[in-house]
Amino acid sequence: MAERRVDIAIIGAGVVGLATALALAPTGLRIALFDAQPKPSTRPKGRTLNEWDRRVTALTPESIRFLQSLGVWPSIEDNGRGGAYTDMFVWDSEGTGQVHFTAADLNIDSLGTIVESSLTLQALISATETAANLSINWGTRLESMDIEADGIRFTTSSGDAFIADMTIGADGGRSKSRELAGMRTREWRYGQNAIVATVRVEPHHSRACWQAFLPSGPLALLPLADDDMCSIVWSVDDALSEQWIQADPNEFVDGLNRALSGRGPRVVEVSERQTFPLIQCHAVDYSKGRFVLVGDAAHSIHPLAGQGINLGLSDARILGGEILRAYQRGADWRSPQVFSRYERQRKGDNLGMMATMQAFKWGFGSKNPALTIMRNLGLSSVDALPFAKRWFMRQAVGAK
Ligand SMILES: Cc1cc2nc3c(=O)[nH]c(=O)nc-3n(C[C@H](O)[C@H](O)[C@H](O)COP(=O)(O)OP(=O)(O)OC[C@H]3O[C@@H](n4cnc5c(N)ncnc54)[C@H](O)[C@@H]3O)c2cc1C
Repeated sequence: MAERRVDIAIIGAGVVGLATALALAPTGLRIALFDAQPKPSTRPKGRTLNEWDRRVTALTPESIRFLQSLGVWPSIEDNGRGGAYTDMFVWDSEGTGQVHFTAADLNIDSLGTIVESSLTLQALISATETAANLSINWGTRLESMDIEADGIRFTTSSGDAFIADMTIGADGGRSKSRELAGMRTREWRYGQNAIVATVRVEPHHSRACWQAFLPSGPLALLPLADDDMCSIVWSVDDALSEQWIQADPNEFVDGLNRALSGRGPRVVEVSERQTFPLIQCHAVDYSKGRFVLVGDAAHSIHPLAGQGINLGLSDARILGGEILRAYQRGADWRSPQVFSRYERQRKGDNLGMMATMQAFKWGFGSKNPALTIMRNLGLSSVDALPFAKRWFMRQAVGAK
């Protein structure tokens, strides 16, 4: 079988794979993306309860700046479907501790924007299709892969064989490319699922994210562009999630209102619901030879408040920037030094976020009264101490 040569192959054309390709486009190198799924539909969307995408992300200002630099943010914004939020309320359902952040405290217009994942994906696909040196092979699954000294050899479900100078694994949490590369991971299940749905609220969401920490896990209400629509991410134990998915819609709405205990807007209607398992998984190393991991393939985390994608976009920005700089200097852009600079910058952030999620799960999952007092004191002192609150807020908006 004749081998086809590309400079960079990216396995997975999800948000992170596409953003990485666009960050690398200025090199002029030939970059080919491969995705197992067919090209997603570009059908325009409506605004009724069931027409909003149930999978949303809270894009931080840092992620938005990156999408602006790639030239894709205007087409996301022009859709008028992004919910920019100015406030964030976080409280402990079992006690009195609470934190309230506002964009004004940081002298910025918004703390972030809730965007449907499909919208971000579409904008990235359109931009990728217009770049002369980028190509996407839809419906093409990675089948085999060998890491060799001078590049990566791989075959796909289309029956073609390729050799790439370097390959990026962006094929999500169950990454086949990571498995074929024989890269080790540390993985732990929470024994929980996240329930995602769109809800209609009354009187309105006030452009705020509302987040309750319940003993069973966090519940986030994320404001969409229409002021009576929110997306929910509710993490619950496996057995409970089955019960909530089967529950009658009115019963589910009552459950949500009990969980919110009158501290957020009132939920009046819910869309169809969807669940996904919460698995925390981190690759021990991010690269092997000329093969590098980004996004969920490197680290899947608890999507607390829809933050999942921001870490992946930061991976794309840093890896793209390091390769581009090496390329422009005339240095070897596929060298282990370039990849270890990327790994050094990203691993700390990714592990830090994962440890925070684990601490939340441990701290808020406990019924120990001493721990309840500690976490209430903790949340209240974050709210009372300007420097602590500012630090917390800067983490939430993705600033250093
Ligand atoms: C059902 C579900 C709901 C979610 N909801 C939320 C949410 O509400 N909020 C939130 O923050 N996060 C959510 N997440 C997590 C979030 O979607 C991920 O953090 C984010 O999508 C990671 O982006 P990625 O590009 O790294 O991976 P993905 O989006 O997983 O993209 C990987 C791509 O690789 C392709 N691929 C896989 N295997 C192969 C192969 N062998 N060959 C070629 N291509 C392959 C896939 O088709 C896919 O397009 C959800 C995840 C799931 C599964």
